[in-house]
Amino acid sequence: MFKKFMKFFSIIAIVLCFTSCEKASFKENTNEDNNEKIQVIVTFNPLKEFAMAIGKDKIEVKTLVPEGTEPHDFEPKIKDLKQIHNCKVFIYNGLNMESWLKKCKDSIDNKDIIFVDSSKNIDAIKINNSYDPHIWLSLLNAKIQANNIKEALIKVDSKNKDFYEKNYKDFSNNVDDLYNDYKEKFNTVENKKFVTGHAAFGYFCRDFGLEQNSIEDVFSSGEPSANKMKELIDYCKQNKIKTIFLEDMVSPKVSETLAKEVGAKTVKIYTIESKEDNKNYIESMKDNLEKVYKSLKK
Ligand SMILES: [Zn+2]
Repeated sequence: MFKKFMKFFSIIAIVLCFTSCEKASFKENTNEDNNEKIQVIVTFNPLKEFAMAIGKDKIEVKTLVPEGTEPHDFEPKIKDLKQIHNCKVFIYNGLNMESWLKKCKDSIDNKDIIFVDSSKNIDAIKINNSYDPHIWLSLLNAKIQANNIKEALIKVDSKNKDFYEKNYKDFSNNVDDLYNDYKEKFNTVENKKFVTGHAAFGYFCRDFGLEQNSIEDVFSSGEPSANKMKELIDYCKQNKIKTIFLEDMVSPKVSETLAKEVGAKTVKIYTIESKEDNKNYIESMKDNLEKVYKSLKK
């Protein structure tokens, strides 16, 4: 632990030296190359989706967690800290999805950065001594996260307030349409239970009165034990589960094994933790909602 701590701080020292030496040239480059777009850093994909929906061509967004990488066990590297140090707005999920955040914040001495906790004002689901971080998989939460991002962009760039407000309204209307459509649909189904790769759909379930079971837990912390597998098989049989939802990044092979065992098929679902199939937030959510609905209706 101590070793890790020391390593982290020696990295920071190097980064700060780096950044102060390069600050001048970095500034020039961004102004020329990006036509003074606001430099935004987000930790992982859904936050990029929300930021782009609100900021559009007025911002340039970089995502820390590389595409195709599972964000639950990500830790920032030197180049990431350097980028954070030089950005204007830093957007993170919150609810300890970024367990490294405090150390990172403490080490960055750029007071001009606006840090945005996207989970502000969200009614979080408690799990033991922490919270379920998968807030973005709820359409209702997405509006709150987008609003938090909108407020930050207005703070940085108040002359474009109307632009950000309009984009927020458009996004929020699209979300409402989707929500209302599926609220009605899910009300008509009797079976409310489905099985996923990891327990990412707690807020999604709360929105629509559904129940999830999953191969891995909420923190995606490893493949299931033999006991857990047996419990899942029983759960599927008892609830006549005919579809096992499969995630590309979390135990897809175990999902396939389970499906075979209970005579179900596998269908891909998006946690949106990484960008998949080039779909934006609304498209991914619509796809998820339709697939889950299809799996539940008779
Ligand atoms: Zn997750």
